[in-house]
Amino acid sequence: MLVKKIMWMMLSAMIMAVVMVVLITAWTAQKNNERAAADSLQMVRGGYFAEIQKLEALNYDYSAWTAAMEAAVAKDVDWLYENMGSAAIGAPFHILEIFWPQDWASLTWNPDIVENESAPLTTPLLSVETVQAIQEMMRPVELGEQDTQNFAFSKDGKFYLVAASRLQPWGQASPVPADELPINIMAQELTRDVLSELEAIFLIEDLTLSTQMPTTDLPSVPLLGPNGEPIAHLKWTPPRPGDALIQIAAIPIAAGLLVFLTLSGAVTVMARRNASELVVREVEASIAARVDVLTGLPNRMAFNENFARLRKQDVKFALLLMDLNGFKAINDEFGHKIGDELLRSIAKIATQCLREQDTIARLGGDEFSIMFTGEYAEAACIKFCNDLTHQMVNSIKVNDLVFQPKIAMGYTIGRSTEANASELMHEADFAMYAAKNAKLSEPLKYDKLLEEDKIKELEIQHALEGALREKTEFSVAYQPIVDAKTGELKLVEALVRWNSTTLGNVPPDAFISIAEKTGMIVELGRLIIDNVFKDMEEFPELKVSINLSPVQLRSRSILNDIQCMAKAHRVNPRLVTFEVTESMLVDDPELTAFILDCLSDQGYGIAIDDFGTGFSSIGYLRKFHFDKLKIDKSFVDDIGVAENSGNLMKALVFLSRSLNMEIVAEGVETEEQCEMLKDVDYDLLQGYFFSRPLPFSDLKDYIAENSLNFQSFQKLQRSA
Ligand code: C2E
Ligand code: CA
Ligand code: CA
Repeated sequence: MLVKKIMWMMLSAMIMAVVMVVLITAWTAQKNNERAAADSLQMVRGGYFAEIQKLEALNYDYSAWTAAMEAAVAKDVDWLYENMGSAAIGAPFHILEIFWPQDWASLTWNPDIVENESAPLTTPLLSVETVQAIQEMMRPVELGEQDTQNFAFSKDGKFYLVAASRLQPWGQASPVPADELPINIMAQELTRDVLSELEAIFLIEDLTLSTQMPTTDLPSVPLLGPNGEPIAHLKWTPPRPGDALIQIAAIPIAAGLLVFLTLSGAVTVMARRNASELVVREVEASIAARVDVLTGLPNRMAFNENFARLRKQDVKFALLLMDLNGFKAINDEFGHKIGDELLRSIAKIATQCLREQDTIARLGGDEFSIMFTGEYAEAACIKFCNDLTHQMVNSIKVNDLVFQPKIAMGYTIGRSTEANASELMHEADFAMYAAKNAKLSEPLKYDKLLEEDKIKELEIQHALEGALREKTEFSVAYQPIVDAKTGELKLVEALVRWNSTTLGNVPPDAFISIAEKTGMIVELGRLIIDNVFKDMEEFPELKVSINLSPVQLRSRSILNDIQCMAKAHRVNPRLVTFEVTESMLVDDPELTAFILDCLSDQGYGIAIDDFGTGFSSIGYLRKFHFDKLKIDKSFVDDIGVAENSGNLMKALVFLSRSLNMEIVAEGVETEEQCEMLKDVDYDLLQGYFFSRPLPFSDLKDYIAENSLNFQSFQKLQRSA
């Protein structure tokens, strides 16, 4: 397209240049011709008048002559011939004619004839009427002044220039009245010779005399007769220097044009080649701009364009966003080269899992997007996620390193015609981040509720920040944990309670994870432990289990904080057990081992909480020493419901025995569950069946009612 445009432009420029040169040359030639015609007109006109004036001057010279006048009045023909007629021979006039007004007789000499014959006389040139008309014109002129008249005249197909004056005395009074003075006429024939002379002088050609009216294209000078009307026209072909110019310039111009055309042709060819290269380069650049260099996949720009194209069709689609979990850590630990290689591998695997009509793009970093289209877009999206996850589990090898990348996946669905690109990106992105936060390994579909949850979460976060500043909204509830055999209260689990002034009672499940995510759990955990230790001062032998979040455990100050608070409240570490979850062991085994060892060394008990919900790796259980194994409520829920649940519960007892741990079942709600757990030899039981978590004051009552053997309590009661 561009090449064609450039070609057309070059061609038009060439044609225009040629046309311009031709036009300018023609115009210059034309102007030159016009100018030459005007010049020749001026010259011919001037030359013609110069001829007349010459004749006029000569005529007057011969007329203001006293002797001639006297001879004429006396009709002394011989004198006249001797002195005037002979002068006509070789003179610049051809005919001399003298008229006598008294009798209108005339005397005419034609020098050509005079030369050959002795008889000088010939027939008169002018008619009497013509001479009378001339005399009429002379009458107003005083004698002694020049009265010469001039005009053109034609007779017998010949043309003459004529000058006429009265013969009169020179410097004295006329002996006869002015009207009777003889009239001296001189005529010069405009012969071919005269015209040729003019042609030669004025550099013109074809000077002719014509009685026909002149045309406008050729210049002409009128010859005015005695009555002032034109009797003929001098016509000629004016010089055409313009034509000569064209003839002279034609060859150089043609040569110049040829050179120009050749050059511009060459330039055009070059321009065409360059333009083609330009177009090729532009296409290449445009492709490059749409390709992700690292993976060779389309990039964000290409993805957006593809999306825009899709909107022109009416199709169902699913937009999936994927993000690698912990990619930054991989980059940090193994270097960018390995990170890049891993991304390339994932891109390759993902591409292999795709159907032909689906398009993948790398949006940047470790983020990929995939557009599935068609009737079964969502099903294709889910299948792709499953396939990819499966491939990831099979692990990826990069330079002898083995990775099992976890990928967070979020998607949204829609119809292309109703889609708004940025909104959809937001939805898929939101779902993806929600999946990431929830550590989901399957794809999460966008739902408005997700956003509502997010808003709720922000609300809680905001309120939590305030509550942590005030420190008055939190309290601790204690849930009894009893001896499975005797029902005797053995210890209590401390569970935080938050009565928010703005949100009311917020359950721990709703705010603990937020506190963990924002790091507020460190501060909150400290507050809880401090509260518990304070309560323990009232029951110096009360055993308490306290939950520790992984985030809390990772904080630098944890050991110091616990030590300080225990000291401040004079708490015996042997009465305190810290409950930790399995995830902590997986995420950061070394640090966890160190902290737990330190706590153990100080006399604190350590329990593994929610056992069976996470990785449940027996390896971890062997690696760390735990005092208690708390079986998750979901196992207890299965009692009497799921097949083999009895065997499973028994197996867990064996496990705890073999690892020298006490086994605790939580979430015991029914007598059936209680009986069964007793039967399979559980050590400790916890659940609503025995008691809900109780405020500290209620705990006191509970102890009073249920645990009569509780020595210290009784002692305390007595002393109170
Ligand atoms: P968890 O550590 O597993 O605590 C036991 C949860 O089970 C408690 O919920 C308790 O009230 C509930 N529960 C006990 N018996 C039964 C029963 O028979 N039926 C039912 N349906 N539930 C029962 P709670 O107090 O809502 O705490 C929920 C979770 O919040 C806790 O689970 C724990 O992970 C976390 N949490 C609570 N307090 C603290 C705390 O002080 N610090 C930390 N880090 N986490 C805490
Ligand atoms: Ca717990
Ligand atoms: Ca638990």
